[in-house]
Amino acid sequence: MISYPEAKKSTLKLAKTLGVVDLPLLEALNLVLSEDVISDVNIPPFDNSAMDGYAVRWTDISNATSENPAILELVGEVPAGGVFDEKVLKGQAVAIFTGAPIPDGADTVVQVELTKKEDSKVFVYKPVVKGANVRLAGEDINEGGKVFTEGTRITPEVVGVLASIGRSRIRVYRKPVTGIISTGSELLEIDEPFQDGKIRNSNTYLLRALLKELPVETFNFGFIEDNPEVVRKAFEKALSVVDVLITTGGVSVGEYDLVKKVLEEMGAELVFWKVAQKPGKPMALYSWQDKVVFGLPGNPAAVHICFLEYVRPFVLKSLGYKNFEPVKLKARIKGGHRKKTGRLNFIRVFLTEKDGELVATKAGAQGSGVLSTSARANALALIPEEVDFLREDEEVEIHYFDSLSLSNSEEGPI
Ligand code: AMP
Ligand code: MG
Repeated sequence: MISYPEAKKSTLKLAKTLGVVDLPLLEALNLVLSEDVISDVNIPPFDNSAMDGYAVRWTDISNATSENPAILELVGEVPAGGVFDEKVLKGQAVAIFTGAPIPDGADTVVQVELTKKEDSKVFVYKPVVKGANVRLAGEDINEGGKVFTEGTRITPEVVGVLASIGRSRIRVYRKPVTGIISTGSELLEIDEPFQDGKIRNSNTYLLRALLKELPVETFNFGFIEDNPEVVRKAFEKALSVVDVLITTGGVSVGEYDLVKKVLEEMGAELVFWKVAQKPGKPMALYSWQDKVVFGLPGNPAAVHICFLEYVRPFVLKSLGYKNFEPVKLKARIKGGHRKKTGRLNFIRVFLTEKDGELVATKAGAQGSGVLSTSARANALALIPEEVDFLREDEEVEIHYFDSLSLSNSEEGPI
C-alpha cells in the first residue's frame, strides 16, 4: 500500500501531452496552445477614435472655455471602416466615429458632448488633454510581440484575442481519448426493472458525466460480467482505441476481482495497487504500451473521489494544462471528525463562509457506497493518515473542484 502523495506523484508522472493538432479556432476551446503565438499585426492596426466626436489639432482647442469656445471649420467626416484622405489643418475639424482612423494632422478627439455644430462650424466648449480619446496603434498587441506562450489554455477570451490577430486555425495538444468499462455481474442497465441481487450501473453514467466537463473524447463500453474471457475481450477492444481506460470494480482481493489479473495477463505494467486512502483503497494504476489504465474500485463514492483526485489531474496534465490540480483551500470543520489512523480520509463536504472564514460541513454519511453524499458536496476535506480526531472548528485542507482552478494564472489556482 502506498501513500496518497506517492500515488498522486506516480499518476502525474505518466501524464504526457499526446502530440499536436492544427484546429479551427473554436474547436480549440479549452485545449492548450502547443506553441507561442506571435502577432504579425498591431492591435489596434491604426490610431483610431475611442469616441464619437471631432478629430482636431490639440493646440486649436487647448484654451477653449464655455464663454470663449474654439471655433473650427468642419472639413469632412470619417465613419468606422472609412478613411479621411486629406490632412487636418490648423483651425479644422473632421467628424469622427468610434473605431474610425485618426486623420493625418489631427492628434486628439473631442467627444461630441463637449461641442456644438452649426452649419460647417464646430464649437468646442471645453478642452480635453492632448491625445484624448485616441487609441494608439499597437497599444493592445504589438506587431512581432508574443501574445500567448505555449501552455496557455484557450479560454473564450483567448479565442477572442486570437480572432483579433487573424488566427483562424491554431495548434494545440490533441485531446486524449478516454474509455469507460464497469465490471460486475451484479449490474443492471438503468432502465431495467430491479432484480434480486442486482444493482443498477451508475458508475459509467457518473464517469461519463464527469468526463463531459473535460475536453476529451469518450467511448463508453458499458458494463461487463465478471468473466475472465469477457473482461479480456472488452479490455483489448477498448485499449485498441483509447489513450486512457477507466474501469470500475474488480480490483479488490476477491475471487471475482479480475481486472488486475486480466491486465497482467495482457502484459500491462503495474504502477501501483492499494493506496492508504478512504474511500478508494483498492485503486490500481497500470500502463499498457503507451496507454494508461485506471482501475477504480466499484463503490460509486470511491469512483467519484478517485476520478477527482487522480483521473482529472492526469487528463488535464495530458492536455497540457499547467494548472491541473484542484483548488487548495483551508476551512474549519463543522462538528469535528473521528477516524482511524493509517489512511488519509477524503470527507465529502460543502463549503460555506462565516465571519470571513470557510466552513466545511459534512455532506452526509461517508460510506464509499453512499453516492448521494457526493451529490450534496462541493469539495473534499483531506484528513491525514496519522490524525484520529479533529476538534470542532479545527482547520482542514480542502480540495475544491471548480473550473476556476483551470485558469491561466501564473500563480496557479487561488
Ligand atoms: P467491487 O470493487 O467490484 O467489489 O465493487 C464494489 C461494490 O461497488 C459492488 O458491490 C457494487 O455494490 C458497487 N458497484 C460496482 N460496480 C458498480 C457500478 N457500475 N455502478 C454502481 N455500483 C457499482
Ligand atoms: Mg465487482
